[in-house]
Amino acid sequence: MERVKDDRLLITNIQRFSLHDGPGIRTTVFLKGCSLHCPWCCNPENISPEIQKYVKDGKEGIFGRYITSDELLKEVLKDKDFYGEYVGEYKGLEELPGGVTFSGGEPLLQMQRLVPICEHLHEKNVHIAAETALFVPAELLEIAYEYIDLFYIDVKILDDQRAMTVVGGNLKQYLENLDWLMHREKVPSIVIRVPMISRYTDDKENREEIQKLLQKYREFIIQVEYLEEHRLGEEKRKALERNII
Ligand code: SF4
Repeated sequence: MERVKDDRLLITNIQRFSLHDGPGIRTTVFLKGCSLHCPWCCNPENISPEIQKYVKDGKEGIFGRYITSDELLKEVLKDKDFYGEYVGEYKGLEELPGGVTFSGGEPLLQMQRLVPICEHLHEKNVHIAAETALFVPAELLEIAYEYIDLFYIDVKILDDQRAMTVVGGNLKQYLENLDWLMHREKVPSIVIRVPMISRYTDDKENREEIQKLLQKYREFIIQVEYLEEHRLGEEKRKALERNII
């Protein structure tokens, strides 16, 4: 595979000892840049694919920094002893070890630059998860499929027009990606996450569409998680807007 010449990744944070981004003890890497702009996003600083200034409590700060793949690999391997070894196939989440989770933003958008890191992690038997909305070009998903052991995939709005208007996503692309993944000879571990957001995702019609989708792929989904509404991103969103004003 042709390697991108500049191997730097744009990230906002590396969170060690994460317990909520996959099984076991994990290191979560938050990559900056997303193909969507969900109004309820809890990490709005990860939507823009550029370094951004913000203003909080009258002080300026920066969201985002570039990191080389060597530097990132070094960081995520610091806690390798806590992850446990990923040596084979597992059926349930509870049987999986810890490891590294790529989150965002949309981590698959930087998938090409993640390849060398994933290769090294697998050489060292480190389990790899990704939290994705799956609104990405098919070729990026194809690369991700080779390296990601566990996919956390969002199901948000299943109406073309509303998906475009509310989150800015091409639903056809999402559905094709999901279907492609579910039809692999070896389907990876897949957890579905459904954010229940009033006015956006929890209306009767959308819930019915989500149920149909879950039913269609039920044999390949190892868990479904319903996420409650929250206001986690509000402060960061305001901090970004203050800079714009
Ligand atoms: S897909 Fe996730 S990271 Fe991207 S805008 Fe939506 S909630 Fe935020």
